[in-house]
Amino acid sequence: MTRSFADRHIGPDADAITRILDTVGIESLDALADLAVPASILDAPAGNGLCVLPQAASEHEVLDELAALAHSNTVAASMIGLGYYDTLTPPVLVRNLLENPAWYTAYTPYQPEISQGRLEALLNFQTMVSDLTGMEVANASMLDEATAAAEAMTLLRRANRTSTSARLLIDADLFPQTRTVLQTRAEPLGIEIVEAELAGGTLPEGDFFGVLVQVPGASGRITDWTDLIAAAHERGALVAAGADLLAMTLITPPGEQGADVCFGTTQRFGVPLGFGGPHAGFLAVRSAHARQLPGRLVGVSKDADGHLAYRLALQTREQHIRREKATSNICTAQVLLAIVAAMYASYHGADGLRAIARRVHRHAERLAAGLGEAVVHERFFDTVLVHVPGGAEAVVAKAKGRGVNLRLVDGDHVAVACDEATTEAHVAVVLDSFGSGAAEPGAPGLPSIETRTSPYLTHPAFTRYHTETAMLRYLRQLSDKDIALDRSMIPLGSCTMKLNATAEMEPITWPGFARLHPYAPVEDVPGLLRVIEDLESWLAALTGYDRVSLQPNAGSQGEYAGLLAIRRYHLDRGDTHRDTCLIPSSAHGTNAASAAMAGLRVEVVKCRENGDVDLDDLRAKIADHADRLACIMITYPSTHGVYEHEVAELCALVHEAGGQVYVDGANLNALVGLARPGRFGGDVSHLNLHKTFCIPHGGGGPGVGPVAVREHLARYLPGDPLETGSHAVSAARYGSASILPITWAYIRMMGAEGLRRATLTAIASANYIARRLDSHYPVLYTGADGTVAHECILDLREITRRTGVTVDDVAKRLADYGFHAPTMSFPVAGTLMVEPTESENLDELDAFIDAMIAIKGEIDQVAAGAWPVEDSPLRGAPHTTACLVGDWPHPYSRETAVFPQGVAHPRPKIWPAVRRIDGAYGDRNLVCSCPPLDAYAD
Ligand SMILES: *Cc1c(COP(=O)(O)O)cnc(C)c1O
Repeated sequence: MTRSFADRHIGPDADAITRILDTVGIESLDALADLAVPASILDAPAGNGLCVLPQAASEHEVLDELAALAHSNTVAASMIGLGYYDTLTPPVLVRNLLENPAWYTAYTPYQPEISQGRLEALLNFQTMVSDLTGMEVANASMLDEATAAAEAMTLLRRANRTSTSARLLIDADLFPQTRTVLQTRAEPLGIEIVEAELAGGTLPEGDFFGVLVQVPGASGRITDWTDLIAAAHERGALVAAGADLLAMTLITPPGEQGADVCFGTTQRFGVPLGFGGPHAGFLAVRSAHARQLPGRLVGVSKDADGHLAYRLALQTREQHIRREKATSNICTAQVLLAIVAAMYASYHGADGLRAIARRVHRHAERLAAGLGEAVVHERFFDTVLVHVPGGAEAVVAKAKGRGVNLRLVDGDHVAVACDEATTEAHVAVVLDSFGSGAAEPGAPGLPSIETRTSPYLTHPAFTRYHTETAMLRYLRQLSDKDIALDRSMIPLGSCTMKLNATAEMEPITWPGFARLHPYAPVEDVPGLLRVIEDLESWLAALTGYDRVSLQPNAGSQGEYAGLLAIRRYHLDRGDTHRDTCLIPSSAHGTNAASAAMAGLRVEVVKCRENGDVDLDDLRAKIADHADRLACIMITYPSTHGVYEHEVAELCALVHEAGGQVYVDGANLNALVGLARPGRFGGDVSHLNLHKTFCIPHGGGGPGVGPVAVREHLARYLPGDPLETGSHAVSAARYGSASILPITWAYIRMMGAEGLRRATLTAIASANYIARRLDSHYPVLYTGADGTVAHECILDLREITRRTGVTVDDVAKRLADYGFHAPTMSFPVAGTLMVEPTESENLDELDAFIDAMIAIKGEIDQVAAGAWPVEDSPLRGAPHTTACLVGDWPHPYSRETAVFPQGVAHPRPKIWPAVRRIDGAYGDRNLVCSCPPLDAYAD
């Protein structure tokens, strides 16, 4: 028998499926679909919209096709700049980090005890950013520079307690994509953006809550903002400055000029251009504003043995608690790329980075010297703005003909950006394109830009790993502390941790996809545009919608883009009063946070006893808010893991009242090939390609969150951020374009039949787990027929009440058994949500189930009085190698602690790196950059 890709992607084979279905008590996968999915929405296999997909192809065929597409792209020398610079990723980082499943298949580090490796790497990232920008605290990444600027804008407004102004002042020399994203974000929030030339140092009249500047500017100019920042502070405004991290190795950083907030991107620190993404944005603040930071923040704390340990600080899962009052909707960020950037800094160290920066600057100086009077600014780092009256187009065309892309600013100006990959030969081509000869080397006669005197990156994290051997071992040492998909199943509800096949991953580092500038001329990128077009049409077919935008960089950004579309639709129709978004109480926290960002009021709809949306309450809420109803935002199948049978009726009720229906598509792994939200009542959905469509989670990002809409909303989809007057939710038109080949390859290799079989297998496996564990941990919600969808919620509340054993205890104890924990306390506190996905084979499902049953046995021992809960293997979990030696005052044995019954052999034991971490201690003593080395000693 020849196996197809689908046979390798899907864990259980035909025999295993038979055993799974026997346990569930159902005849076939199709019978399961009929039973679980409401007949009113279930598509017939022939009518599920997937006939437009090409026939499934093998891994090697698809790699050939993608190689041809990559080849059709032109990898020119990118001297376009504008926030995107070519960079030389050290091969040791490409192979052992970017292409290493131990790093890219990890999940967001919510379980810190088995995530110490990536948490340490992220702490290095935070330290790197705060050092280079001269700020005190940096978070663990933003989605890109433009959205980081937008988060800076709202942070300034929240943090400014003296100004009541709704006006934000921005410098005219910001990147155009930053300006577009700021405008898009400002409008629904009632923020007025005022743009002015600020380099002269004078502020326009009036009050502002904040000022946004950037250094170097889009034109390449370096401005000292010290006086302007002081003037802004005097006026009651706070200041955020964009900063280029490589330039910061030479010039005075904004933090030393008095800025309150600093934002930017770390792309040029070893992260490929990728036609716009993914790469890690950053946001850094003074300590006074640390608690205002959006996104995730890694902090230092201690474990149960008093050892130093890392965990997410403060606002972890903040949206789930604060909902529409959350500081931001950001959930999935850019962890993998942040770690690449941090390791790039560790590998080069301060001296290495400074040398790279000097080389880049020297190339720019050489250009300036050759171009003489035509150069517009005297102080620049890497970008030279050149005045060529009437001749700009010809210069750009000439350089293009010789393999170098320059930026056409307008008919009279060209900008040339140098970067780490720039060579003497490129400089010569550029000078020749301007019709200039080379200037005498070393005689530019320009003032030095090197004003920075403060040290940076002095911590051992940045001084110890400059050789390849040291870096290789550091990467291995860190990833060995973590549980990722390369070690065992990650049974996370709502997050769909499925296989990220190697054939899907290989192409993303090919230069034909990785080394393209997002604003490269279209004729350079036909292969990638083809991937994008295919994907837009395939995803539209899969979801039953008419149009798809791939721009949003995460699910949360897709939500925001979709809600903006709804808002604009109502406004265009003159329904200016429609500002209310109904959200069921079980919704993911990002939903409410996104609605607030889109300028909508959130009204909560109740759920019934069985977990379904309460249609009576919905009717009442619709009546209450009649004229103001903008939309409802539901998740389908629900976050309770159930196909609600009344979904069609629910959608109809909202439509009759003039509202739109947003279907959160994070649970699409339960729908692909079976039902289409665009056909059963949705007007708009976002998908999470990093959940349903195989983009790896990367330890908490990257993600892609396409937004799909029906025709009437198509004109409100995000546009090109470089076009004036457009609106955009990311800095690049196609967001994280370079990882789209992953999803393309997945769909191409699975084909229609494979995708449908994957969905049915995921549902069958979830039902198998639910059936086998129900007598140990009751399954909280099931559908009308006793089935669950692709995930199930295990209710531990009664166990906790009876024995004191909490979901935390079970989650941490699973680490001793070699497993990552399920999702904890979402969407219901005191429960665990389990999602097996289709990629786990029956042995793995059984190993997980056996571990859970063995843990239940331990809980029973606590209940029977064998151990007090406070001194049980559950509360003591996880246990480290240190538990093997020294005193052992506990009533349970060391064997029970570290080799609990049920650890499947011959699976090698996974050793958690630290004991249970005291999160609250770290929040009280907030430390968010690398601790001194002696802190590791005790
Ligand atoms: C994951 C998830 C989101 C948010 O997606 P991100 O990609 O993390 O921003 C939204 N809704 C639901 C139901 C989810 O599971």
